[in-house]
Order: sequence, then C-alpha cells, then structure tokens
Amino acid sequence: MNLMDEGIVIVYTGNGKGKTTAALGLVLRSIGYGFRVVMIQFIKGEWHYGELISSEKLKPEFEMIAAGKGFVGIIDDDHDFNEHVRAAKQALKIAKKKIESGLYDIVILDEINYAIKLKLILVEEVIDLIKNRKKTSVVLTGNYAHSQIIENADLVTEMKSIKHPYKKGIKAKKGIDF
Ligand code: ATP
Ligand code: MG
Repeated sequence: MNLMDEGIVIVYTGNGKGKTTAALGLVLRSIGYGFRVVMIQFIKGEWHYGELISSEKLKPEFEMIAAGKGFVGIIDDDHDFNEHVRAAKQALKIAKKKIESGLYDIVILDEINYAIKLKLILVEEVIDLIKNRKKTSVVLTGNYAHSQIIENADLVTEMKSIKHPYKKGIKAKKGIDF
C-alpha cells in the first residue's frame, strides 16, 4: 500500500492527564468529515463516562465499545485477574475485527497500553494488529507504552504531569475526568 494512503499509528502515553481526551478530540475532528470512528475501552468498561453517553448522539459515525472490567488490582477491584484477562482478550478480538473490516477511518484502543503492561494481552498480538491496519489509523492510549509499540508508531506524544488537582485532594470531576 502507498505510504500516503496507509493509516498512521498514534500513541498517547505518559503520566499526565489528557491521553483519552486527546483521542476523543480526534473523534470530534474526524466525524466532521463523515469519517467512521470506533473507540474500544480496554480497562475501564464498568464506569460511566460522558463519552459513552455522547457516543449515542454521535451515531453512526462514532461508536464506543466498553469491553474492560474496571481498574485492575487497585482499589475497588473485586474481579478475579483471569476475568480481566478474558475481558482484555475479548476487547482485542473486537479490535481485530474492526480493523480488518476496513470500515473505519480510525480505531481507538483506549487504555490498551495498560492492558499490555499488566500482561492481560501480549504486545506481539497488538503489533500484528497494527501491522494489518491498511488505510485505518490506529490510536493507542495509556501510560507505560511498550517500547515495541513506540517503535511501530508514527506519532508518539507523552503527556507529562506538571500539576494535577488530585494532589490537592480534588476528586475526579464530572465532564472533565469522566
Ligand atoms: P483523561 O481521560 O482525562 O484524558 P488520561 O487518559 O490521560 O486522562 P488515564 O491514565 O486514562 O489518564 O487515567 C484516567 C483518570 O486518571 C482521569 O480521571 C485523570 O484525570 C486521572 N489522571 C490522569 N493523570 C493523572 C495524574 N498524573 N495524577 C492523578 N490522576 C491522573
Ligand atoms: Mg485514559
């Protein structure tokens, strides 16, 4: 495939806020052209997110699939690790189907970097996935992006935390954090 026609691989990583928000910014921009975008959430499927509600309003151009099982091994985690593995594998299967369908301009794999870091899925499987993207651009979010992911990406941005209200004890805010 001609390099210009090929979709690009975008990575948003780092310890600062804005990775998922940046991916959602691309949704707003691209659906303006009538592009088709799907976001698959790898980790946070059980939370209620503003974007999950918005996706209903942005149909059919934007689709959102919450496949994850909430935070892994941290507070409030009442799921068995294997359940997380199953959920992440399921998310990966959906991602593969979506990318191979050729129907999407952009496929966003939200928090997939954490799923790799936590060993819920193998980095090799994700590399295979992005190598088969053809004209679809793929966005991978989450801190701790694997070196192989960075190597195979065209655009990598690291969000660096300078300040976060969390440090002052300000809890997650509706419409800003979720
Ligand atoms: P967002 O979805 O707001 O763009 P993100 O995708 O960059 O955030 P994640 O790692 O997915 O960040 O974490 C999601 C939640 O954690 C958000 O509510 C965000 O505000 C919060 N968060 C992100 N970075 C930090 C940080 N450095 N310290 C504390 N909380 C953070
Ligand atoms: Mg995020």
